[in-house]
This record gives sequence, structure tokens and C-alpha cells, in this order.
Amino acid sequence: MYAYQLSVLAAMYPKQTQRIKIGESVQGRAIYAFKLGTGKKEIYMDASTHAREHMTTNVLMKMIDTYTKAYTTQNKLYNYDVKKVLNTTSIWFVPMVNPDGVMLVQQGLKSVQEPYKQKVLKANDGSKNFARYKSNIRGVDLNRNYNVAWKTTSTSIKKPYYKAYKGPSAVSEPETKAMVSFVKKHSFKTYLAYHSSGQLQYWYYNQSVKQKKRDYYLVRKIYNVTKYNPVTSTGIANGSGAGQDWFVSTFKRPGITIEIAPYVGETTVPHKYWSSVWNKNKSVGLLAAKEAAGR
Ligand SMILES: [Zn+2]
Repeated sequence: MYAYQLSVLAAMYPKQTQRIKIGESVQGRAIYAFKLGTGKKEIYMDASTHAREHMTTNVLMKMIDTYTKAYTTQNKLYNYDVKKVLNTTSIWFVPMVNPDGVMLVQQGLKSVQEPYKQKVLKANDGSKNFARYKSNIRGVDLNRNYNVAWKTTSTSIKKPYYKAYKGPSAVSEPETKAMVSFVKKHSFKTYLAYHSSGQLQYWYYNQSVKQKKRDYYLVRKIYNVTKYNPVTSTGIANGSGAGQDWFVSTFKRPGITIEIAPYVGETTVPHKYWSSVWNKNKSVGLLAAKEAAGR
């Protein structure tokens, strides 16, 4: 559904937008990136790396829809001059990094092709309720699979599981491969990774003092609209493998993990939080694009 919406927008506004396929999931589902803007500078935002956190896809899709309308009608939006912002900085959205996992959470085993049905059941301790499932269809937690302190990342999970298994090697999964090769082809000023638990911002990964100051400036701006508290420590104990940490350490630019909802335990975010989540996050893409224009 989201792929169709992106294709419609890209067809309607070919000068202002672009939809490209950046890779495929384990089960062959396309992973799409959507560009909005004509600006030479670029920022990058993604969502649904963790399957059960699929409300994050809705946040990016509504941003895409709302910003595209404002951009193409030249309206002001949330006090931003959208045309000026996006003519300077383009935003690349990847609204669903882990489509197999999201389909599993939403539709259960019927969305799964062989040979993964038994494997994914095993990774979920035999339960057919996949509401808690975070990993990709091979039971790899994509946010432990990036090549940043991967070797030293030690969790108690040593085999495919619904969460926290880092995979057989760094960037072993097609979903992380797609993101890494896409990001390497660009020169993104900023990376915002959308996740869903805790109403927090993870942003710190051993930055130099100067980088830390620059990055924290953006974090404070996001705090001003979301009230998500910054966490001044590395997000993941005992190593990393996280996309944000990979971006921060590789490119020396701000990477922020935005957790959109209160922690609700090991399950999807209840729909009752949607309107407050959207209201807090609706201007974040424009805010980040405008901030990137200055560097
Ligand atoms: Zn997450």
C-alpha cells in the first residue's frame, strides 16, 4: 500500500519527487526510497527497521504526503517556507526498511514464504502471535547488524530470534545491505532513524567535542517540538551494530534515533497514541532539512 502511494506521488510530481528501489528484503519485497525536494544538500530518514514499530512508517508516510502537498502548492507549513527549505535540502525517506517483518507482525504466518515458516516460528518461541517481533524474517535484528563495533557486540542471543540477534556477520542481511549501499552513494548531512519505544532521542556515539556540540544542537531543536528527552550515552549496552551509530562513526555527522511512543512492552504501539505521535513529529523532517542547510 505504501509503495503504491509513493508511486502515485512520484508520477504526479516528477520534478519535485522521485521513487527508487534501493534493494529487496530476504523474501524479495522491494525496499523503496522516496526523495522530496530539489535541494543539492540531502538528509536521510528511515522507519520500520524493527518490525513491530511499524507506526513509524505511518509517521514518514504522512510527512511525505503533507510536505509534498505544501511544496507543490507553495504553501507555508508549520511556519516553514517549505519551498525554500526543500529547494535547498532534499529529504530522502525510506519508510519501511523491514517489509517482511512488518508483514509478519500485521498478517502473521500467511505472509511468510518457505523455507521461513518453521524458522520464524522457532525464532518466536513457537508462538503464532508475532506482535512482539522486531527482527527480519531470518530472525536477525537489523539494528544490531550494522558494521559498527559489530564484532564486540555481545548479547545473550546467539541464534535467530524475534529480537537482539546480531546475525552471522556484519551487514549479512539484504535489508542492511540496501541501506548501507544507498547511504554510501550520497552525502547525507543528517540521519534520523525512527523507532518507537520510550519517547527518547539516542544520538551519542563517541563524537568529538565539536561534533557533539553540533549534534546536540539538532537534538535540542527536535526536543523543542517533541519533548523527547536526549539520552547522553550510547543506546546499546555491550557493543552496537545500530544504524545510527554506524552513520555517526562513519560519516562524522549527526545520526539520531527517535523513539516516538511511550514504552508499551513487547508489542506494537497502540493506535490511541497516533494523533499525539503525529503532532509531535509532523515538523521534524522540515526542521532537520532546514538545520542541514546551514552546514
Ligand atoms: Zn526499534
